[in-house]
Formats: sequence, C-alpha cells, structure tokens
Amino acid sequence: MTNQALLIIDYTNDFVADKGALTCAEPGQVLAPNIVKLAEDTHQADGWVLLPTDVHTPNDPYHPETKLFPPHNVRGSWGRELFGPVKDWFDQNQSADNVWQFDKTRYSAFAGTDLDLRLRERHVDTLILTGVCTDICVLHTAVDAYNLGYKLIIPQNAVASFDTAGHAWALNHFKTCLGAEIILS
Ligand code: ZN
Repeated sequence: MTNQALLIIDYTNDFVADKGALTCAEPGQVLAPNIVKLAEDTHQADGWVLLPTDVHTPNDPYHPETKLFPPHNVRGSWGRELFGPVKDWFDQNQSADNVWQFDKTRYSAFAGTDLDLRLRERHVDTLILTGVCTDICVLHTAVDAYNLGYKLIIPQNAVASFDTAGHAWALNHFKTCLGAEIILS
C-alpha cells in the first residue's frame, strides 16, 4: 500500500444533486468524472480511498448546524446517498480493503472520528482532498490535517462550493497557509 489516501468528502445528493438540500449544483456535478478517475487511479496504485460522509438527525436541538442549515444528509435518506458516477464507483468497489466510507457529524472528517488513528496505523502521511464544499468541509478537514502533520494535495478540479468567492479564497488558503500542493487532476 502507498502512503497516500484520497478523501472524497460529502459527495452526496444533498450537496451535489439539483434537488439536494444544500446543493452546490452544477459546479459540484461537473467534478464527478475527475473524482472517479482519482478514485480509480488511487485504488489501482494501492492507495486508500476514503469517503467521509456527513450524517445528521433532523432538527437535533444539540447540534450546532441545526441553527445554520436546513436538514441535510439525514441517515438513510436519498440526500445522503453518494451522487451519480461516484455512487456507481463506490458500489462497485466498496468491498475492497482499501476503500471505505465513514460517518462524520461535523465539517472536519477528523472531528469525533477515528480517521487520524486509521491513517497512522497505515503509515499514511499524504492526503488528497476532493469533494464539497471547498470552503466548509474540505477546508475544515484540511486545517485539521495540517495541524496533525499531514501533507496536502488538492486537485482544484475535484473540489467545489456553492460560494464561488469562498471556493477561490479556500484554494488560496490551502496553498499559502497550509502548504498544500494545488494540482489539476
Ligand atoms: Zn452537516
């Protein structure tokens, strides 16, 4: 196995599909072939393909996002299913040992999850971040990864946001403040 992991963050119907509750819509949808190619390349190269996926209980009075956003990524709902071609790729490859999806309940894939432990067990030191939204869940995951000492690679054609100014700001922040390598996949 390699020391690299590809993270596909929150690429679900609610965040990407036209009828999603918090959708990026087209800027998110056009990423699909790029993300699938990265997943396939990483898988073939014996890297790790991980899918951190938001999960919520609707109107949870204790969750900070309840006041900020409409209900989204509710467990068992259509909105929480992976979007389009990425769903197809995952369905075909999810039984592989180096491919797994896991729940997260905050923006960062590290918050309240065992991601850091699992990566360290596998001697992973480099993360390739993809998915949505560039300036929310990808950003918070990148900041935590930086603080934990991971190297970051961000393919700019595999991340998107509903907020184009936020997307541009976050890409610049990844490069200038987190030392990320920004690439075209
Ligand atoms: Zn959420």
